[in-house]
This record gives sequence, C-alpha cells and structure tokens, in this order.
Amino acid sequence: MDNDNYDVVVIGAGISGLLTALALSKEGKSVLILEKEECIGGVCRSYEVDGYRIDTGPHAITRLESGPFKELMDRYFDVIPQFVPFGKYQVRIGNDVKPFPWNINSWLKFGLIPKTDRLLIMKSLFNTLYLLNTGKNLNDISIQELVPDNISSTTRRFLDWLCYFLVGTSIENTAVSRFIDNKTHKSSAVKYIGNIYDFFVTEGAKDQGYPKGGLQSIVNSILVSFPKNVEIKTSEEVVKIQCSGKVEKVITNHNSYKCNTVVYSGFASDLPHLIDNLPYDYAQNLNKIKKVNSLTIWLGLNKKIFKNYGSEMWIDSDPYAWMVPVSNYDSTMAPNGNQLVGFAFTLPDDYDSNEMRKKALDSIIRIQPDMEKHIEMIHYQDLIPEKAAWDINSGFGDVETPINNLYCVGTDTEKRSAGVSRAAYSVLRCLEIMESEGNIHKFQIFNEELELAAK
Ligand SMILES: Cc1cc2nc3c(=O)[nH]c(=O)nc-3n(C[C@H](O)[C@H](O)[C@H](O)COP(=O)(O)OP(=O)(O)OC[C@H]3O[C@@H](n4cnc5c(N)ncnc54)[C@H](O)[C@@H]3O)c2cc1C
Repeated sequence: MDNDNYDVVVIGAGISGLLTALALSKEGKSVLILEKEECIGGVCRSYEVDGYRIDTGPHAITRLESGPFKELMDRYFDVIPQFVPFGKYQVRIGNDVKPFPWNINSWLKFGLIPKTDRLLIMKSLFNTLYLLNTGKNLNDISIQELVPDNISSTTRRFLDWLCYFLVGTSIENTAVSRFIDNKTHKSSAVKYIGNIYDFFVTEGAKDQGYPKGGLQSIVNSILVSFPKNVEIKTSEEVVKIQCSGKVEKVITNHNSYKCNTVVYSGFASDLPHLIDNLPYDYAQNLNKIKKVNSLTIWLGLNKKIFKNYGSEMWIDSDPYAWMVPVSNYDSTMAPNGNQLVGFAFTLPDDYDSNEMRKKALDSIIRIQPDMEKHIEMIHYQDLIPEKAAWDINSGFGDVETPINNLYCVGTDTEKRSAGVSRAAYSVLRCLEIMESEGNIHKFQIFNEELELAAK
C-alpha cells in the first residue's frame, strides 16, 4: 500500500541529501528523507570508540568565507556550527617538514624538492597559460602530459599525492582543468586566468576550518534547523524509483511512497538498477563512473606526538597519507591528555582491505617510529569520500536527469571543488534548476527573513 503523498522524497541522508531536504523544506515543501543505514550523515558524521570521538575520515571544511556550503548555511541554518581555523598544510618528505608552497614565491623557495624540478614545473605552468589561449579543452589534458619527463621521483610523488587527494586519481588520469578552475569569476576566460592569478598570490588555506565537536556538529546543526514538514526514515533502502516519463513512486524494502519530486543522493552509478529503461547513453555514462576508495587509520595516542597546529601531507608513505591531529583542533575529541590522529589514504581500484590496512599502518610507523609505543586505540574505516573521481577516462553524473522531476545531488553530480563543498555546489545547482522549472520559488523564506530583518 502507498504511504502519504510528499512533495519531495530525498533518497539518502548524507550531507548532500540533508542539505537539499533542509533547503526544500524551508522553501515550503513537505519532504521525506529515506536512508538505508541505521544512522544519518553518510560519510559526514562522528561516533564514539573507546572514549575517542571519531569522524568519518579526517576533514577540513573548505571555503568557509564565501563558498557554496557557507551560502547554504547563511540561507537555511538556524544554528551555525563553530569552526576552528584549520592551520597550515605541511609537507613531510623523509624527516623534513615544510609548509605547502601555496604561491610562486614560496614554490621557488620550497627546499623539499630539487631546484631544477621547481624551475621545470614553473616552465610547464607557463606552457599551460599558453594552452589556455589556444582554446584547448583542459578536461582532456592530463597533468602527466604537462609535467616534464626528467623530474625526480620525489617531485613526481609530490604531484601524484596532490592528484590523489584533490581528485581521487593518479597524475596520469587527472585533468589539468581540476587545478585551473575558479569559483568566483563567472566568464570562462576570466575564470581560468583568475585561477592562475590565485596561484601567484594566494597565501594558503585561510578560509578552511574544523567543526568543533566533530563532523556530527554539522549534521546536528542541520537537524535542529529542520522545520516540522520534514520526516526522516532510517533503515529504509530504496530499491526502485518508478517512473513513466516523470517520477511517480519510490519503493523501499518496507514501503512505497508517492511524491511529486525525487532528489536522489546515493551513487549515481546505481541509478540504472533503480530505474527501468533509462536512456542507453545516459546509463552507459553512469556505468563508467569510477568511485574514489579511501582508508582511514585513527590512532589514539597516550602522548601528544604531533605538536604543530595544522595537517601534514606524507609523501613518503605508501600509500600516500594525509595526517590530521584532530584533537589539536578540539581536545574533547580524545580522553584527557591523549591525542587523536587520523591518517587518510586514497587507494587504488582493486585492493585487499586487510593487506592494505597492514601495509598502511607499517608505512606510517616506519616514518614516525616513536608513535608505536603510545598507541592505545586503532580504528579503521573503509569509506568512499567522493562518489566519482574527476578522472579523464571515467564517467561522471549530473544534477539534471532525463526523467522529469528527478534530480541528483552529491559528489558524483558536480565537477567543482571537492568533498562537502562539491556536495554543496550540487545542492545549489539542484535548487537553481528546480527554480528555473518553476518547482520552487526563488529562495522564498530566505528573502522573507531578510525583509523582516530589514524592518
Ligand atoms: C577519509 C575522508 C576524508 C575526507 N576529507 C574531506 C575533507 O577534508 N573536506 C571535505 O569537504 N570533504 C572530505 N571528505 C568527503 C566528504 O565527507 C564527502 O564528500 C561528503 O560527505 C559526501 O556527501 P554525499 O551526501 O555526497 O554522499 P554520502 O555521504 O555517501 O551520502 C549518501 C547517502 O545515501 C545513502 N544511500 C545510498 N543509496 C541509498 C538507497 N538506495 N536508499 C537509501 N539510502 C541510500 C547512503 O547510505 C548515504 O548515507 C572526506 C571523506 C573521507 C571518507
């Protein structure tokens, strides 16, 4: 039997599903959220392990001064999470640790890689500027193609590290466009030049933060901001989206729900299994999506080993690691006097989970042997940080779909930024499209609140 009729069913309660549900409910829609797991938050939540508060992977929330997530918080959150400045990104090669070179000036002085390599890469950067003028499509050119063959293996590993952590794939498969897109400038010419300009002058990751209380504080802020017209059902897996030209019904392992609109935030690559008779080309492209795989090793240490404020890129670790001493941002994440440190690794496509855990742990202990005797808690997480790698040879989803009133959000639907910012971009685009189709009115409540505030 069908359950109540909702304006919108949101499938999936990760950050993109929750943000969409918040926005649409505040725009006056009745919203039902269906989540297959027992808890909400997807890969943006926290839980307790042996007195430590563990996030689903170490996180730096980016673009907090003017990015898409900030825009959604300003518009729709009743309670804003508190963010602690994320601090410097340090690069660790061997036992040397130096700040990440954010601009040309610091790049030229960046002593961790040979001077000749730094100059060769500068030359490549100027060649890239030239490419921009020839009208070539930067989505089709890989970073590997731009990098000179004769650079040292350390420099290549450094660039490969950046590709894995920013894009989720290797230097061979990373499109140049990932490093040369820009968020603030609207016309494409200015956009590209703007980004190169940023590279010359930027001072680092100044508008990034760690949410005090862990990732869960973001989810909790959304939950307390929900108006009454939102319902959440957990442990309900959507197994079919029934459509005939437009969406009619969502069927789960327990129930079925009629609705006018569906926003899907699960894996776009699952859509061909959930919907019958999708157009062939659309389904083929979704089948070509490559997910990003990650492993996080959380260590609870009974001594504060990492004293610097900020995170470290471990170029010598195998696989590459990003080390974040989370309790330096919020000491309540670990028992009194202890340190909680997350090591995130991006993994290849086919890997054996147990082998990888051992290899990764051995690797970080080899780099920092004094950690070993202070470990009192180890916790592993195998998670998918981005549902689609921004890879030149793979498929990618889209917010728009060929079905009327079906939209997709999440990190496999929008090629801008990464992680929470990418998810937030997809939500903003979904709202824009719904508005242009007359499905919602322009940020009704937000504008009403502004008018009220002005009075
Ligand atoms: C190790 C690691 C480090 C990270 N670091 C950062 C960082 O520094 N900065 C940053 O911004 N981001 C970071 N991220 C990424 C960020 O957390 C994610 O990109 C973001 O949370 C993804 O949100 P999402 O809503 O798109 O997807 P998800 O969180 O995957 O949510 C999708 C939800 O849909 C549900 N679902 C799927 N299929 C169905 C179905 N059929 N029926 C019902 N429910 C369904 C799933 O259970 C899930 O809850 C990191 C992630 C990891 C793992």
